[in-house]
Amino acid sequence: KTFDELGLSPDLLKGIYGMGFSKPSKIQERALPLLLANPPQNMIGQSQSGTGKTAAFVLTMLSRVDVSLNAVQAICITPTRELARQIMTVVNAMGKFTQVTTEYAIRDHNIGSKITQHIVVGTPGTMSDFIRRRIIDPTKVKVFVLDEADNMLDQNGLGDHTLRVKNEIMKHNKNFQIVLFSATFPDTVRTFASKFAPRANEIRL
Ligand code: AMP
Repeated sequence: KTFDELGLSPDLLKGIYGMGFSKPSKIQERALPLLLANPPQNMIGQSQSGTGKTAAFVLTMLSRVDVSLNAVQAICITPTRELARQIMTVVNAMGKFTQVTTEYAIRDHNIGSKITQHIVVGTPGTMSDFIRRRIIDPTKVKVFVLDEADNMLDQNGLGDHTLRVKNEIMKHNKNFQIVLFSATFPDTVRTFASKFAPRANEIRL
């Protein structure tokens, strides 16, 4: 299977090949057809760092954005700022030939008033705070990604912030896609995932 067969836009394919990727990794090959399907479906993926999971969910976010609408349409939450920065680097590299815009939701990052960029990447507390203060308007969000769920649940309160973000989006929008990645699936993650991403397709690598 090649990236060309996945229905990705020519601008995204340019971004992918520009990063030096020639064919999908195993997780990408299995997850992307599900992640990009219409109508959108929830997905829970078990996959370690180094497998190419980041590109899988980044391509999902980039594909679903309607650039003619200046509104937040995809949100990605990760347990740490460092990880948020790494993910943002991938979003900007893959989206280099698109008109998609991005912003951070991390503490100490200076935001004007309202975020109108298409994709927001950040940490649970700040994302939740930005929605509460209406710096992020949750009404147009179509994709919500949670990366490294196991690491996130190791830290007190982060799961609650994440569920709060989801509930805010859900108040306005019944049909958004939820994607959760985790390297491990202990009971804590299982229980959380069943609340966060109900009726999800599961992919294990
Ligand atoms: P990740 O598991 O998302 O942290 O990605 C691990 C590494 O694999 C990163 O350095 C990516 O740039 C690289 N990578 C991801 N997908 C591909 C691909 N399809 N072909 C080659 N390298 C890839």
